[in-house]
Amino acid sequence: MNKQPLPPFSGDDTECVKCGNVGAYTNYRKQGEPIPGEIAFGGGPPERLDRVCARCDYTWAEACIPSSEATA
Ligand SMILES: [Zn+2]
Repeated sequence: MNKQPLPPFSGDDTECVKCGNVGAYTNYRKQGEPIPGEIAFGGGPPERLDRVCARCDYTWAEACIPSSEATA
């Protein structure tokens, strides 16, 4: 087992850990849907939000918000 829990969604003004830019795009990914250009193995990655740095295109995954907050 090498599954690591995803960090919580950090909002629109999150900071890129690679270049320090504040601001990242967000792309929803379904259960099993890999990052574009990468190959999913096994059951694939969990449902998540892929964050893409607005400056350097670094991509990282964050957890979807709890459903109780998803009413907006
Ligand atoms: Zn960046």
